[in-house]
Amino acid sequence: MTLDELISSFASLTGDAIGIAFRGPGDVVGRMVWVNDAYVELFEYPRDEVVGQLTGFKNDPEYVEGFLSTLKDRFEAGENHISSETYCRTKSGKRIWTSVKLLTIPTETGRFTAGLYRNLTALKEREVAANEALAERDAAYLSSEITHSRMMSAINCIADPMAIWDADFKLVVCNAAFAPKLLNQTEPMPVGTSVDDFLEKAANSGLFSDAIDCEAEWAKNAAESLRAGPIQDITRFTNGEVYKAVSYQSPNGDTLVMSTNITELENERLSRESYARQLEEAHQVSRHQASHDELTGLGNRRFLTGALDRMNERLRRHGGLISALHIDLDRFKQINDTRGHDVGDHVLIAVAKLLSSIVANGDVLARTGGDEFVIITYDADGDGTYAHRLALTIIEELARPIYARGVEFRVGASVGIAATDVSAVPDLLTDSDIALYKAKSLGRGCVRRFSTSDFDAMRELKTLSDDILRGLEASEFVPFYQVQIDAATGEMVGLEALARWLHPEHGVLAPDRFLEIAEHIAVVDRIDQMIFEKALKECSKEFSSGFAPSLSFNISHKRLMSAEILKAAEAAAKYPGKVAFELLESIFLDEADDASRLQLDALRDAGIILEVDDFGSGHASIIALEQIAPERLKIDRRLIFPITQSERSARMVRSIIDLGRALDIEITAEGVETESHVALLTALGCERFQGYHFGKPNLLKEAIADWLQPEPDVQRAGLR
Ligand code: C2E
Ligand code: CA
Ligand code: CA
Repeated sequence: MTLDELISSFASLTGDAIGIAFRGPGDVVGRMVWVNDAYVELFEYPRDEVVGQLTGFKNDPEYVEGFLSTLKDRFEAGENHISSETYCRTKSGKRIWTSVKLLTIPTETGRFTAGLYRNLTALKEREVAANEALAERDAAYLSSEITHSRMMSAINCIADPMAIWDADFKLVVCNAAFAPKLLNQTEPMPVGTSVDDFLEKAANSGLFSDAIDCEAEWAKNAAESLRAGPIQDITRFTNGEVYKAVSYQSPNGDTLVMSTNITELENERLSRESYARQLEEAHQVSRHQASHDELTGLGNRRFLTGALDRMNERLRRHGGLISALHIDLDRFKQINDTRGHDVGDHVLIAVAKLLSSIVANGDVLARTGGDEFVIITYDADGDGTYAHRLALTIIEELARPIYARGVEFRVGASVGIAATDVSAVPDLLTDSDIALYKAKSLGRGCVRRFSTSDFDAMRELKTLSDDILRGLEASEFVPFYQVQIDAATGEMVGLEALARWLHPEHGVLAPDRFLEIAEHIAVVDRIDQMIFEKALKECSKEFSSGFAPSLSFNISHKRLMSAEILKAAEAAAKYPGKVAFELLESIFLDEADDASRLQLDALRDAGIILEVDDFGSGHASIIALEQIAPERLKIDRRLIFPITQSERSARMVRSIIDLGRALDIEITAEGVETESHVALLTALGCERFQGYHFGKPNLLKEAIADWLQPEPDVQRAGLR
């Protein structure tokens, strides 16, 4: 067996590649002398291309120098067995990673080095992959650290508080603003704190307005809503700041809560809102003005219509009864005419206040005209007694004195009521108005419930009004005269002109048939003027020579204050006798104001005698009497009538007569009907008489016929 064969048989014991090199004493590097088949296979060089090559030929050129010098150092250091790893290159250029075990055998001629090579490439690749994976892990870890710190510095830059809570609502992370802003504390909140602990602390921090005085409840509710799911809460802090807290839930169960300071936005919104509110208020005011009466602040007709529509709707749905109360002030016109609009306005305001205090909560009160008010009541199951009771209360209350500008007035009221249990609302107001008219025609201060027969009265009113206007055009109003007798002499000393309507169909009509309606349609002053002109003409002619009795006219309030009356006073100068104006006592409700006093003075300057009519029926005060200083007072016939029966009435009349004497005012007694009236009144000191006892109102000739006979020598009074 040759050495070669021996080596080959040993070498076949292993699958490793084996190569043997020899280095002679003068050689720097050894040369290959023998390789096995595995070597040929591994390095892909045919055996004849290997043998004789320098030992480093198969090493990767990149590594060969380092590898060889290392080996050299180790061999020189006396190591005979060296294990190492290195890259080699096959003939085709493939780089393979091999383990190398080298054994050096020195001989006298030089050194044999046997090398065992194993291909570690696959192993090495796995190792590299593993190392790379490890490195990657390390890098990833490093980069997540960086990300985390970046994220933290980022969220710490956010001035508003934010936090992330895990699925159990334990704190995962929060930013720097969190604790100071939400807990009013500098030390950060530890990770892991439960949301309940946090909220409890927050509640007690004094920062949350809503939590004050209900801390525990607030914290509990806040925790509940946070757990329940996404929140969007706006919270006002006690320092005035406003935060909006919004929560987001991430798929992993975390909840991120961000609070954003929206103070500026919120304040802007609030100011926008308050602007909108102001605008709305302005709208409301203008709506209110459109539907309300400026003077009294009550609703007007338009408001009433709206309210009625709503009530009508209720009626349609729930049944019941709607009542309309039409209220008219009995004496407002007089107050307004005599005391001026300013006082009138104050009276209306006082009345409006009074009515407002009387009506119940659901009632609707409106002022629908000058001195006209309407109340609408809805009664779910009513029979109308409420409305009736309300009307009575109103009449009672308005009969009491009312104070306007510190002065007492008695306005009085009449009420018309209409009710409906079906939706016939437009008719309702017409009906109550008709009922009111009827109430007034029945005498003031009463309630009238609408009945269909009132329609007829209404129609009559309309006809009559038209008829009066026609009568005025046709000059059908004429004066009748009633004589006035001097108590001392029994002579006719005066005549009162009284209006009569010579109606083409109905004959002679007394004032009670037309005066009120004439007032209603505001033509009394025209009638007065017509009577005045006719009487003046007639009497001037009649009494052109000889004795001319005084001539008295009834003057309406409106006429008294008109410029017209001064012209009339001038015209009166044509009459040879005295002309007197009779003013209703109610004109002098109180101390007359300056305007009317001036007017009265002007009349007096024009030679007019002023008389107070119907004295004792109204409320004239002694002060007013003194101020106006009328020449004459006519005692109302309702006071005269009972004097012969009632001691008390007699005393009253006596005191009026005494008062007249004291104030230097002449006294006329009206309604003197009997001889005993004459006797008693004479005894009491009355100076003039007027009444049926001496003559009923009549045409001039007829009225004076009995009184102008020269010396009839009979007891005239007794004849009548
Ligand atoms: P008056 O001014 O008080 O007039 C007196 C009324 O008493 C008259 O009624 C007269 O007929 C009535 N009378 C006279 N003597 C007696 C008597 O002994 N017993 C009774 N029971 N009555 C007597 P007349 O004419 O119906 O007038 C009623 C009222 O109408 C008048 O009351 C007056 O306020 C008003 N009036 C009459 N004519 C005019 C006028 O031309 N203009 C104005 N504005 N009012 C007038
Ligand atoms: Ca009169
Ligand atoms: Ca009278």
